[in-house]
Amino acid sequence: MTNKKVAIIGAGIVGLYLAKELQEKGFEVSVFEKEKEIGKKPCTALISERIFNYIPEAEKVVKRKIDYLIAHFPKKDIQVRFNPSLYLFERGKLDNLVASLAREKGVKIQLGKKIEKLPDGFFRIIGCDGALSKTREILGENPPFLRLGLQCFLEKDANSKEVEIWPKKEISGFLWRVPRREIVEYGAIGDPKNTYQIFLKFLKKRKVEIKKENLRSALIPLGIVLPKNKKIILCGDAAGLTTPTSGGGIIWGLKSAKILVEEFPDFLSYRKKGLKFFWPKIQKAKILTKIIYTLSNTPFVYLFPKKVEIDTNLFYSFLRYKIYF
Ligand SMILES: Cc1cc2nc3c(=O)[nH]c(=O)nc-3n(C[C@H](O)[C@H](O)[C@H](O)COP(=O)(O)OP(=O)(O)OC[C@H]3O[C@@H](n4cnc5c(N)ncnc54)[C@H](O)[C@@H]3O)c2cc1C
Repeated sequence: MTNKKVAIIGAGIVGLYLAKELQEKGFEVSVFEKEKEIGKKPCTALISERIFNYIPEAEKVVKRKIDYLIAHFPKKDIQVRFNPSLYLFERGKLDNLVASLAREKGVKIQLGKKIEKLPDGFFRIIGCDGALSKTREILGENPPFLRLGLQCFLEKDANSKEVEIWPKKEISGFLWRVPRREIVEYGAIGDPKNTYQIFLKFLKKRKVEIKKENLRSALIPLGIVLPKNKKIILCGDAAGLTTPTSGGGIIWGLKSAKILVEEFPDFLSYRKKGLKFFWPKIQKAKILTKIIYTLSNTPFVYLFPKKVEIDTNLFYSFLRYKIYF
């Protein structure tokens, strides 16, 4: 029996999905979550249709399909299309859906249970406890690079109906505007030092007024931290896994969970496969992002195409991207 008990720290989307899958495989899974409620994570929840490969039931909670966005570079606008398509969700609903699927399979979810030291009596322990992972700290691993994510919701303004982003070289990140039904979301991702100021300046310029208490923030990791440990491992944001270009971490987190389920309980094999899959993508994306941010502030920006079709999760090779001048 002891060889069946698995502890997962963190009931974010990755921990919950992993719990459901491992319970289905015949393990007895307990999830420990520090918050009293599930689904409180600040997140835009723009997710590629790959989500349905992992969680087909997510179709029930889709808000809408996003066909394209407009990227406003300093001197040029580019229409960015997505292959696979992108969908907008409400993060709270999505996490609660996965929690109920996990509970239906028999997963025990303990809320209001902040882990300070790893629980005893488990055959395997998996840290899915996000960007500031306690499990990672206990393992003595260095944190990945951390970016700041900001988000606020306002009453819908008269501005465009399109999803827009503004890449900002000075924060190695971007700002966004996502219109929802009655509200509009503004947000930012970038280096932790300057992003807040750049975001406030941007909103002021657009005459968008926000109350500071409506501003939500969270750290977004970037890197890959997979310890060489046979009994304790990390997954999702805890392992640093978010797409370097966008900061989106849901598909990368679910993909890491899928690899973990396939290799379970062999954590060294999970580590090997995880590094093989994600490491080259992270390196390529870092180079691509650097080139784009550098060129975007020079006359070379005029050579940028008018329209591109990309895979937001970077699972396809860049050679499959479509470019229209
Ligand atoms: C502003 C913003 C916008 C974003 N937009 C997108 C987007 O549009 N698309 C996308 O794909 N990604 C987006 N992301 C990233 C995405 O939110 C994360 O990649 C995703 O939440 C990772 O899921 P996770 O389950 O690994 O971690 P999390 O969702 O962070 O879950 C970790 C869980 O662990 C719990 N926990 C932490 N410490 C402990 C402890 N000591 N004991 C017990 N429990 C603990 C936390 O309370 C939390 O519930 C965004 C992030 C931010 C900040």
